[in-house]
Amino acid sequence: MKGSRVVVTGGAGFLGSYLCERFVERGAAVVCLDNFLTGSPRNVEHLIGRPAFRLVECDLTGFVHVPGQVDLVLHFASAASPADYLRHPIETLKVGSMGTLHALGLAAEKGARFVLASTSEVYGDPLEHPQKETYWGNVNPVGPRSVYDEAKRFAESLTTAYRNARGADTGIVRIFNTYGPRMRPYDGRAIPTFIRQALLGEPITVTGDGSQTRSICYVDDTIDGVLALADSDFAGPVNIGNPAEMSMAELAETIRDLARSSSPIRFVERPVDDPAVRRPDTSLAEERLGWRPRIDPVTGLRRTIDWFEKALTTYPVAS
Ligand code: NAD
Repeated sequence: MKGSRVVVTGGAGFLGSYLCERFVERGAAVVCLDNFLTGSPRNVEHLIGRPAFRLVECDLTGFVHVPGQVDLVLHFASAASPADYLRHPIETLKVGSMGTLHALGLAAEKGARFVLASTSEVYGDPLEHPQKETYWGNVNPVGPRSVYDEAKRFAESLTTAYRNARGADTGIVRIFNTYGPRMRPYDGRAIPTFIRQALLGEPITVTGDGSQTRSICYVDDTIDGVLALADSDFAGPVNIGNPAEMSMAELAETIRDLARSSSPIRFVERPVDDPAVRRPDTSLAEERLGWRPRIDPVTGLRRTIDWFEKALTTYPVAS
């Protein structure tokens, strides 16, 4: 197994917490670095106290040092919800640039494999559909979303330079919209928002006319894909996502039905530069990593709704 001692940056976030959990289950020692900007110790509280797990409060944009051996660095620190990165534009650019530099420096110093969590947002508002890794994207460099998109594009470039110029062992995963338990009900992303609104009987707010599409991947599938890349020596970039594409209006209706809700659907203003379509071509992941998603959207959404039913009673409003 690659990674008997693993550093997970952003490990107290949604995806990072699953990575910490999976590596602890695999018998690895895990160091979770997080500044809790958008994550929370509550996401990993079930791991605190396990001798193999260490949670360290650390801002990746400052000085980063992890004593001892490290075999794998999974760099997941970065706000990911549009509401979060629009609220924290400079922090998002800093963690994507300086944070990535520091995480790469740590991996290089230790001779560890480095995996960058990149995003389908590097494709911007795509002119190619579905998106293959060979597509260069269509990103507005001065639009509001650029703080995230361009930070990730820079992070991909920096990771590639470390590989080519310094011989670092790196992998880049382009993650498409992932959902599941542990998303913050008020994080502003479509799925937690629709589920929360459906469960509370509030209007479900769909942006634009709801015809824009997304392809949603259940968290367990995404994590399997990331682990497959971590265990390989493949450089990527490689798409990890579920090609099951649906319109936002369809997604809202599916969630409303699964939650047995009678919430009305309300159409609201569409955000600037919101991509019209999004669907991964996953043939590279299948060919190089033997990975494909297994959980269909209805099964995944059902599990997520079950979790939200309990979480809504314990989560502080608007956090
Ligand atoms: P998240 O907001 O739940 O987690 C991000 C974590 O990074 C949080 O715990 C946050 O506190 C931490 N963080 C932010 N800035 C930091 C800093 N300067 N130093 C240390 N920690 C910092 O988001 P997520 O959905 O878990 O996304 C995790 C990663 O995966 C991100 O890099 C994101 O770009 C990428 N990604 C996620 C998705 C998705 O659908 N969830 C899709 C594409 C890419």
